[in-house]
Amino acid sequence: MGASLRWSDPSGLLTEKTPFGVTCQIKDWIGPVNNFNCCEEAKKGQIDINPLNGKGDIGGVICCDGQLVSCIWISGGTKPAKNGKAKEIIDGCVRAHEDRHWQDVEDCKTVRNYHRPNGTWPPNIMECSAYKAQYKCLMGLPPDNKSALEKCGTDVVCKKEVQDEINEVNRRGTLACKAAGEPYP
Ligand SMILES: [Zn+2]
Repeated sequence: MGASLRWSDPSGLLTEKTPFGVTCQIKDWIGPVNNFNCCEEAKKGQIDINPLNGKGDIGGVICCDGQLVSCIWISGGTKPAKNGKAKEIIDGCVRAHEDRHWQDVEDCKTVRNYHRPNGTWPPNIMECSAYKAQYKCLMGLPPDNKSALEKCGTDVVCKKEVQDEINEVNRRGTLACKAAGEPYP
């Protein structure tokens, strides 16, 4: 990865022109940074904070050095889970959720900076699609088609935590799809 720009915006309120003539809602340009970890830096710059509730998101899609990147900022999903195996399985499907957003967000290529891209659809429609992708992942995807619960094997703590995650994903997915006027799952 080449030189990238790094932004910090604790308040999220100010709008400033970047050195590239692009107006974005992130102030305090820190400067170009080489070879940094996009997701880690995004968290340091509080890009993970959801403006709707002021809390850090589990995951998100960011533009970093002109490229879309899926980030997982909280391992273990909605609770989050503590069991190592459960975390790994759950995080894999959080990634499936974030990756599904790629086709619904604006292109990063023309804007060489570091931010969360705007959606090209209303939020509920985007979340409905993403939760459906996450649900499919939890139910098992090719090549092995193993469900998240099957992947726990005989680990009962893993199964319990994965089941809790499935329930919460279903609850959130149902709400988003209902608001979007679409079926779930
Ligand atoms: Zn989402």
